[in-house]
Amino acid sequence: MEGCLSVPGQYAEVIRAKAVKIQYLDENNMMQTLEGEGLLADCLQHEIDHLDGILFIDHLSAIKRKMLIQKAKKFIAQHKDDD
Ligand SMILES: [Zn+2]
Repeated sequence: MEGCLSVPGQYAEVIRAKAVKIQYLDENNMMQTLEGEGLLADCLQHEIDHLDGILFIDHLSAIKRKMLIQKAKKFIAQHKDDD
């Protein structure tokens, strides 16, 4: 199950790779490699998707994505005064 602050209050099962190996530039502009599996692999894929403008709901069917967006709008309306 996956969720995101971009789609508040909504969760859905997303199929992801079980393990990933990524390369990135650190704060000193040095190439680094990171391998992860399980929750770390899920988080890395989720966050890299964000960098590409992709939300977890973009991995779902059109009908399920539309349903979650509608439910997120209701969730936002119900919680707009929660601060
Ligand atoms: Zn997210």
